[in-house]
Amino acid sequence: MSGNNVADRSTILSSIIDEIALPERTLAGAVSVRGIGFVHGQDVTVQFRPAPAGTGIVFVRTDLPNKPSVPARFEFLLHQNRRTAIGRGNAIIEMTEHLLAPLAALGITSAYIDIDSDETPAGDGSSQVYLDAIDRVGTRTLDANIAPVIIREPIRINEGIDEGTASIEIRPPSIRGLRITYDLAYDHPGIGEQTHTEAITASTFRQEIAAARTFVLEQEVSALRSMGIGLRQTSRDLLVYRADGSIIENNLRYPNECARHKLLDVVGDLALLGRPIWGDLHAKKSGHRHNVALVKSIFEHSVQHPGGSVSVRNVA
Ligand SMILES: [Zn+2]
Repeated sequence: MSGNNVADRSTILSSIIDEIALPERTLAGAVSVRGIGFVHGQDVTVQFRPAPAGTGIVFVRTDLPNKPSVPARFEFLLHQNRRTAIGRGNAIIEMTEHLLAPLAALGITSAYIDIDSDETPAGDGSSQVYLDAIDRVGTRTLDANIAPVIIREPIRINEGIDEGTASIEIRPPSIRGLRITYDLAYDHPGIGEQTHTEAITASTFRQEIAAARTFVLEQEVSALRSMGIGLRQTSRDLLVYRADGSIIENNLRYPNECARHKLLDVVGDLALLGRPIWGDLHAKKSGHRHNVALVKSIFEHSVQHPGGSVSVRNVA
């Protein structure tokens, strides 16, 4: 009999689950990031600001009348292709994932994010520009706790895309936190099969994940540009793969940089739960559509306990 199966883990966890609470955390000061949006190519400035406990992560569209706010939560998700967007009324924020991933990895649970356009700055296609900004001001704990979502039963998403070969699954945690494996399989000589596993902490995110950049195939670029996307980006601003497998005007930061970037996207999309999550996640060829479907399922199966803890169970 296996000593490491899901039931055993679940039993161990159930004895401690009601005692788990993490300190809320915010930024120690305000800090800005300026850049160019990837989708519409506009100049944009975001400013991270400290927020009181219980605020959550909240975007504020400072360029719109009455400065409407949009919580970075699943309930405000909009359907977009190849990227994640949230919105409320006419206040939309596109490409939230690269900005939200470092906040989640650093345990920042409450912050305001002022933004003067409808998309985040693209930076170098990774989360590095945001991580650097947050590290310039640092973080501080708040006088309140937040309970993580703890996965008690496996949840698997396997929608009918990519001929059913893409999936994302989360199981009860093997560590006190979030552990992610991403398996990438691209029928392309430059990418091929790649995998990466990481237990997500502030230090592992800093050292192993934050710098992994967005990638695109050269043959996709003209289609994106005909849709008006990426018009101000050059091939130095992300990884552009030629058909022969080489990369235009750029060098890889890691041999499996593409898998690491997809893992980064998962961290950023999971942040839309609005609280830390503990579980072992395994993604295979999944994209934003799968990620947000998983977030939706976790959200729908969450049980809030009287002591404030949250678990996910009884998933069919
Ligand atoms: Zn991405």
